[in-house]
Amino acid sequence: MTKSVQDALKQENQVLVAAGVQCATRDLRLLMAFTLGVQPYQISLLLNNVLDPSQQAIFDQVCAKRAARVPMSHILGYRDFYEHRFIVTPDVLDPRPETEILVSLAFEEDFMTVLDLGTGSGCILLSLLANRRLSRGVGVDQSPKAISIAQRNAAKLHLSKQVDFFVSDWFSSVPITKFDLIVSNPPYIHPNAMADLSLEVLHEPEFALTDYSDGLSHYRQIAKSAHNFLAPNGRLLFEIGFDQGPAVSAILFDHQFRDITVLPDLDNCPRVVACRSSHQ
Ligand code: GLN
Repeated sequence: MTKSVQDALKQENQVLVAAGVQCATRDLRLLMAFTLGVQPYQISLLLNNVLDPSQQAIFDQVCAKRAARVPMSHILGYRDFYEHRFIVTPDVLDPRPETEILVSLAFEEDFMTVLDLGTGSGCILLSLLANRRLSRGVGVDQSPKAISIAQRNAAKLHLSKQVDFFVSDWFSSVPITKFDLIVSNPPYIHPNAMADLSLEVLHEPEFALTDYSDGLSHYRQIAKSAHNFLAPNGRLLFEIGFDQGPAVSAILFDHQFRDITVLPDLDNCPRVVACRSSHQ
């Protein structure tokens, strides 16, 4: 049976709402645009069009995935983050809007060299380099599959010449360099909090979300060696969970970092800890 775009959207809206999808209307608009090969803003002009059988089949398929709580980024193959579109697969953490604040804070000071620990899709590092075309970056991740996604994103954004990616257990394979800036969004979710997360998170790599310990172990590990890789007055910026500000600040204090500040995201949630290397 043929259906109009509008009827198809209405019908699937009920299905997605029943499945507990948070922003069903927005997601359906994007899924319909994907199905028809048009821009999302064009959907309102096409509401009376009739879906042909192959379009109907594609729309049914993508909606079934979304109802199974597959993240939008895995269905569409990308996530928009900061100013760019990044390739995203189940091998990397899905870039979050709250992480954009870390990028904005990094831009508050100049840097010529930047290291991203646990780069995943490369979204933080590549957003930084895209706006600082004379800067150079190094991105590391323990996952070879993540590194290959980050490299694809660098190529897509014409940034490959500005960046080197390495498979590395934090600093283990980082070339001995003094960076002006180190950024990291490490896995920080306490294992006990994993069950409270949205169902979409189950489609992401678990090791990119939790440290299987107390949520803080990666901050401790990074803080221990970060001085060796920071230029005098170099900055270290960590993304943190909303309740980790005091604990992460204490870890940095114990390792002689200075100017330790906890900064909020746009929802006013503590989201970043910034600090500076102790040597002048
Ligand atoms: N902000 C992510 C979340 O709450 C976690 C990212 C991370 O562990 N680094 O789902």
